[in-house]
Formats: sequence, C-alpha cells, structure tokens
Amino acid sequence: MVDKTFDLIVLGAGPGGYVGAIRASQLGMKVAVVEQRATLGGVCLNEGCIPSKALLDSSEHYSLAKNHFAMHGIEITEPKLNLTTMMQRKDNIVSELTSGVEYLFKKNGISWIKGQGILRGTDNDHFQQIEVGPEVYKGKKILLATGSCPVAIPGLPIDNSLIIDSTGALSLAEVPDHLVVVGAGYIGLELGSVWLRLGAKVSVVEMLPEMLPKSDPETVKALQRSLKKQGMNIHLNARIEDIQVDNNQATLTVIRKNKTQEIEADKILISAGRKPNLEGYGLKESGVELDESGFIRVDDNYMTTAPGIYAVGDIIDGPMLAHKASEEAVVCVERMTGQAPAVNYHTIPGVCYTWPEMASIGKTEPELEEEGIPFKVGKFNFMGNGRARAMAETEGLVKILVHPETRKILGFHILGPHASDLIAEVVAVTSLNGTVDDIVRMIHSHPTLSEAIKEASLDVDDSALHA
Ligand code: FAD
Repeated sequence: MVDKTFDLIVLGAGPGGYVGAIRASQLGMKVAVVEQRATLGGVCLNEGCIPSKALLDSSEHYSLAKNHFAMHGIEITEPKLNLTTMMQRKDNIVSELTSGVEYLFKKNGISWIKGQGILRGTDNDHFQQIEVGPEVYKGKKILLATGSCPVAIPGLPIDNSLIIDSTGALSLAEVPDHLVVVGAGYIGLELGSVWLRLGAKVSVVEMLPEMLPKSDPETVKALQRSLKKQGMNIHLNARIEDIQVDNNQATLTVIRKNKTQEIEADKILISAGRKPNLEGYGLKESGVELDESGFIRVDDNYMTTAPGIYAVGDIIDGPMLAHKASEEAVVCVERMTGQAPAVNYHTIPGVCYTWPEMASIGKTEPELEEEGIPFKVGKFNFMGNGRARAMAETEGLVKILVHPETRKILGFHILGPHASDLIAEVVAVTSLNGTVDDIVRMIHSHPTLSEAIKEASLDVDDSALHA
C-alpha cells in the first residue's frame, strides 16, 4: 500500500519547490512533491532560465563566428546556421537537468506525486489534505511553490503560431523575418537578442519610457545603445493600437508620441511580465489570503494566513527569480525545524543576460534620492580595463553607490562582459556586511574584468588609478 502521509508536501517542483524538498529531506522530514508537468524543475529548467541561456550561448557563438572572428585574425568561411542542431542541444540540456532533479529526488527519498494538486483543507487530526486525481494525500505542513505564468495582453492572444509567448520563442523551427517583441523586460530583451543574432530583424515595442523599468537608468541607456548598435529596433513610449492579420503575417499599428506607425511582423513575442499562479488549486477555500499587490501573503516564516500552509518563490512578493525562490524555500524549511536563518533581500542579484550583460543589486540612484538616503557614486568604464580591451569587449560600466558615512554598498550596477559572474564579488562583500573599503583593499588578479569593480570602488573617493 502506498504511504500517503508526509511531514511536508510541496506543491510545484520549480526551483522553489524542488530545492525546498531536498533541504527538508536533508533535515529529516518525510517529503512528497506534487508536480503536474511531465518533468521536474518548473519553469526555470523547462522553459525559463536554462533553455534561454542555452540559446543565448549558442547564438552568441554564432554571432562571434560571423561578426568578430575576423577581427581576431581568424578567417573562416561564412558560418551556416543549423537551427535544428541548436534546438536539439538546448533540449538535451533541459532533459539532462530535469532528469538530474529526478535523480536528486530518488537520492533524497522524496516521493514525486504526478498530477495537479488541489488543497482540500485539514482533517480531524489537523493534517493538511491535498487531492491529486482520485487520491488524497496528507501533510503535517504544505509548501506552495506553484510559480508564475506570462501576463496576457488584451487583443493579442497567444496562438503559438503568429503570436507566441516566451516558451514559443524558445522553440521556433525557423528564424523569423521580423520578430516584434512586445515588452522590454529582461525576458523580451534576452529572447529578442537570440533571434537578432540568428539573423531575424527584431523590433521591441515598449509602452513605458524606458526598458527594464526600476533598473539603473544610466546602465539601461548604455545597454539600449549597445542593442541598437547590434541592430535591434527599440520603440519606447509606444502603444499597440491595432493588429491586422493576413495569412500568418501581422500588421501592427503602433502609436508613439502621437505618431502612428505600421510594423509588419511574421512573429510577435508577448513578454509583458509574469503573474503568480493563484487559480484552480483551492487557495481561497483553504484560507490563504493575498497581499495588496496580489501575491500570497506570508509572515517571516513564509507561513500564509492558513496555519500549516507556507509559500515561496514567484507566488509571493519580490523579484520573480529562480535563486530568490530557492533561497526562500531553504530558509522556510529550515525555520520549520526551529532554525532562524533569513533571506537577505538586499543582496539578491538581478541579471539581464543580453550581451553585454547587465546585473545589479540594491538600490538605484533615483530610489535613493526618493528615499532621501545620502550616497556617493563611483564609476568605471570597461574601456579603461586591460582585460576588456584584450577581449575587445569594452562596452559598459561599473557603478557603485555607497553611503558616505557607513561606507556600506547601497547599490551596485554593472553593464559589461560576464556581469552575471562579476556581481558575485559584490554580493559576497555585501552579504558579509562589508564596505566599499573592503573591495578597495581586496587584491584583484590582473588582468581581469573584476579590476573594474575595484576601480569603481576607488572612484567613490576620486582615486581610481586607471581613469
Ligand atoms: P516555477 O518554476 O514556476 O514552478 C512552479 C511549478 O509548479 C511548475 O512546474 C508548475 O507546473 C507547478 N504547479 C503549479 N500549480 C500546480 C498544482 N496545482 N499542482 C501541481 N503542480 C503545480 N530567473 C532567474 O533567476 N534567472 C534567469 O535567467 C531566468 N530566466 C528566465 C527566462 C524565461 C524565458 C522565463 C519565463 C523565466 C525566467 N526566470 C529566470 C524566472 C524563473 O524561471 C522563475 O522565477 C522561477 O522558475 C520561479 O520558481 P518557482 O519555484 O516559484 O516556480
């Protein structure tokens, strides 16, 4: 007979759910995970972080071979794209990683209950009940990690042919002639970059006056210049007024600064943000309430308003990022066992994996100004960095925002090669409660891109050495 009672039942096997399950099992809990997809890993592994980065890397190789090898003195015949092989490589990576999570479940004795889970309240012994198909499973505690889905735009319904979402954009069988990306957030810019590098004309249409809202305006402007130079058309302050479809070709009417423009497209990628998955699994009936922003309300232990039901990841407030989901899940289950760790929300890095990459932690200058927090700015351009010049990757800058008295790092923003990895240094210093002076005193290998971080830190007191 199958055992149906657990210490913890996790709903959703994304980076919040599967990481929380593994940690709970390490801490001695008997754990089951309910997942409705055919594979584990959630959005992140199946249709998010991993496949997008696989295509970003492949398309970057193609672009380097096409546009940059000659400058390095490497002469090749015109590289030819084999999109089927590129997609197959991406699919293989996804499949290896999702099976890897399955292996980790087996290793940690975690049961995978396949199907859609629905919360069914508590039984007489105060166990939480989850219905999956004809079965009811019982858990002393439930961890919700049901993630998010793309926000729809009225008038532009996803048909997975002409109008696609991010999942569709990760699996196109052909390079589109003209891809219109609706929304200039990080997903739109990353996937737009993939298809631009592979030869599509790419136009981004964004309603707001800037790309990547809430990011440092100076680094965003520098990224915008770079993407334009690469050939991306970026229309800001632009609203789609109408769409006419004829034979799988669309004509979009776009209004920008009171001027009307028609844009023809053979693919339209809707990437207007994501919303938490809150419907269809009994949240309201179980007493799980939402906060003012429409996410699940949790306390410091990540417990919802329903005792015994916890929530982490994209369904609760904060940046919708895989590492945020995982960190919350680990902290949540450790707190269930009496430990008292906390997520340091100030040090969660956000990355846009375009090329150059953009990465940041903490506050921006406008945010600090608005909050009346005093700050000093240190900056350094990659143009002045020896390694960046050796790599011919001189676009971008490092910017550090520092409190004038405490010398604490209030914000850090970087646009440049490998920004996603470089930011780890500043995350470490900030997590260890360090100051800008710690970075200044740290010895950075020469020649490395990381020296730009030291130089920006020195620039806080006007003492950059290579500026
Ligand atoms: P999810 O990963 O969304 O997983 C939730 C799981 O729950 C899903 O598998 C779903 O099937 C399951 N589920 C939901 N309801 C039920 C139910 N009732 N019963 C059973 N199962 C259920 N983040 C980054 O940090 N870095 C990146 O580079 C990055 N790139 C991205 C690129 C794209 C194209 C996209 C779309 C997202 C990207 N993200 C990235 C965001 C990241 O994928 C999410 O923040 C992360 O996956 C959230 O994790 P989660 O555990 O909260 O939920």
